[in-house]
Amino acid sequence: MTAPLAPFDDRDGTIWLDGRFVPWREARLHVLSHGLHYGGAVFEGIRVYGGRMFKSAEHAERLCASARELNYSLPFTADDLDAAARELVRREGIVDGYVRPVAWRGSEQISVSGAGATAHVAVAAWEWPHVFSAEAASRGIRLRTSTWRRPDPATAPVRAKAASLYNICTLARDEAEAAGYDDALLLDLRGGLAEATGANLFLVIDGALHTPTPDCFLDGITRRTVIALAAELGVEVVVRRIDPAELDRAEEVFLTGTAYEVQPVSAVDDRTYAVGKVTSRLAEAYGRLVRAE
Ligand code: PMP
Repeated sequence: MTAPLAPFDDRDGTIWLDGRFVPWREARLHVLSHGLHYGGAVFEGIRVYGGRMFKSAEHAERLCASARELNYSLPFTADDLDAAARELVRREGIVDGYVRPVAWRGSEQISVSGAGATAHVAVAAWEWPHVFSAEAASRGIRLRTSTWRRPDPATAPVRAKAASLYNICTLARDEAEAAGYDDALLLDLRGGLAEATGANLFLVIDGALHTPTPDCFLDGITRRTVIALAAELGVEVVVRRIDPAELDRAEEVFLTGTAYEVQPVSAVDDRTYAVGKVTSRLAEAYGRLVRAE
């Protein structure tokens, strides 16, 4: 048995909060914060490999863009936030780890209107997260199709990495885990394949990569990286609407995400998959890239 992790509000170290490095336990917000009541927080996850963040500029840009999608702007530029995260990783001595920037509206306003509530930003970093056990990660994880779906772009800010959208992910993930699976596979509002709770989806069909059009879920930075790697490896990539029935003819299935990296899938409901060649080649290429850049 491994010892339980220390709670996230009770650790040693430093957190960057609104432009200052503060002791970890003092990085608090008030219970009357707009972001807590009305779900307007946006966040990022950045992986650190060998002391260096991978694609940190893209993540900083996406944090700012996510806030804009929710109709507020951050009091720091993407470059400022990227520099703060770099300095934090250095100070904390993170070698292989994870960086979590988060932004929210503050306490000037507790009503649905967001106008007048100032934006706050924090960045925290900690050592390596394992989304799944090492054993599950290498043999492939098991997905269960969720009863929850990704929302209509007309009813939710689907382009933002918005905390409010993670309600659906947490419900779906808890449902899948309660049924003995590792993660959930969510369909989109039209019943097409969408994504997992923290990662994008790829199928290998006749040796080519097929991935759903990201029109109602996050177009992940890892997804785009893997599409570029596939092109370099001469693997055809098809971005399109994919019916769940096509899982029957997929030779391989995998997920991509900052935390998941290139994660093989060994089962979706009662279908099973081996960890195939295309997945392995892309996982290796991705593993090399994250440590090379
Ligand atoms: N979808 C969801 C719901 C996610 O939480 C993530 C992780 N940020 C992704 C997709 C993949 O995005 P990225 O590759 O940028 O980490």
